[in-house]
Amino acid sequence: MNQRLEQYDLVLKGGHVIDPGQCINGIYDVAIRDGKIKEISAKLPDHQAHETISVENKILCPGLIDLHTHVYEWVVSDSLCADDVGVNAGVTTVVDQGDCGSATFLGFKAYIVDKVQTDVRCFPCINMTGTVTPDSSRTALYGPDMVDIEALVSLATEYPHIIRGLKAHNESGALSRWGTEVLQLARKAADLTNLPLYIHIGELFDVNEANRPKPEQVIDKVIPFLKTGDLLTHCYSYRPDGLLGKRQNVPESLLEAVKNGVLLDLGHGVHFSFDIARRMLEQNLRPYTISSDVHGNFMIPHSDNTLDYSLCGIMSKLFGLGFTLEEVIAGVTIHPARVLKSETEIGTLQVGSRADITVIDLVEGNWLFHDSIGEQLVTKQKIVPILVVRAGRVIHPHGRLLRDLQPIKNLKQLAKTIDSVTDSKATKSPIK
Ligand SMILES: [Zn+2]
Repeated sequence: MNQRLEQYDLVLKGGHVIDPGQCINGIYDVAIRDGKIKEISAKLPDHQAHETISVENKILCPGLIDLHTHVYEWVVSDSLCADDVGVNAGVTTVVDQGDCGSATFLGFKAYIVDKVQTDVRCFPCINMTGTVTPDSSRTALYGPDMVDIEALVSLATEYPHIIRGLKAHNESGALSRWGTEVLQLARKAADLTNLPLYIHIGELFDVNEANRPKPEQVIDKVIPFLKTGDLLTHCYSYRPDGLLGKRQNVPESLLEAVKNGVLLDLGHGVHFSFDIARRMLEQNLRPYTISSDVHGNFMIPHSDNTLDYSLCGIMSKLFGLGFTLEEVIAGVTIHPARVLKSETEIGTLQVGSRADITVIDLVEGNWLFHDSIGEQLVTKQKIVPILVVRAGRVIHPHGRLLRDLQPIKNLKQLAKTIDSVTDSKATKSPIK
């Protein structure tokens, strides 16, 4: 009898599948058809496949989602190419945080979202022009006069698949100029659109010194505006007006907010501190989502010459701070997918979901990483993306921006560095 064989477009064979959304952690084959996950099984039924790739000894997980990137290339000067930050860095979905606003969103859609291979979503900035001048000197652009709630609501209604949240800032510069006026408008827009608020933490804009808020009071300004599902990013920022700042412990009000469902996001960027991370981890304050805040040089348009971190590098750093592999993968798959309210589509390998997959090599060794203020950390494993599947299509990431994952060639130099770290505990250097 001639039984009809299962037909697949692609089979990834024998990978160590980690899919925290489905509590899957083991060796499986993953079969793909028509751009969707068709089967995930320790033993696939008899089948024919257009292409079969062995991923034995590799980790296979849902395509990585980076909740904080800057990819409005050529419009916002520190924004980078979405595919360099996305599929070519092992990331299948990137979320642009605040580079466009209501007046510039349509350009973002036409020239970025509609053009690239990576799945691009965005949280528009609450102001009309987004982060068009990221050097933060043009503070007037971010004030309450630049907010058009009606325009935001209408765009969010028309493009619900792209606009998944709203970005606003709670830091000393904004508060010194407008108090909480912009935050009030952001709350109103979030309520009208039913979207989460994503709040930047840590000094950013030029501060009106005559009106500088006390750093330890800054977090309490925003908490009354937050609801369940809203996010605070740069959670391990070293800035004095950050979540921890110069305190021993974070305030009770923050613990209460987290207990009530406010989420923390890593947002590495240029303010991430291992020391702050360790101290907040002692209070069990862990990021729900792990994001990179990958961006270029603030001072030179379209230059990535200052970029020295990546999402996979950040995931590797978290091992050194004691996170488990499952926890790290959840922070870049199912958790951000839930924030985007897209968890049946991405961030999971459940049958029927889109075939967005990242295959990782977990490389053993002594790998040297540093935070934004120069403190160094050696980890035993690093995460290197080696293959991406995007809606069923195989992509080999070129990894141009994975500078923190380059092999450390000079082991003698590494040994010296480790000694000097042990001696001095932390090496600090100024940042811009
Ligand atoms: Zn950012």
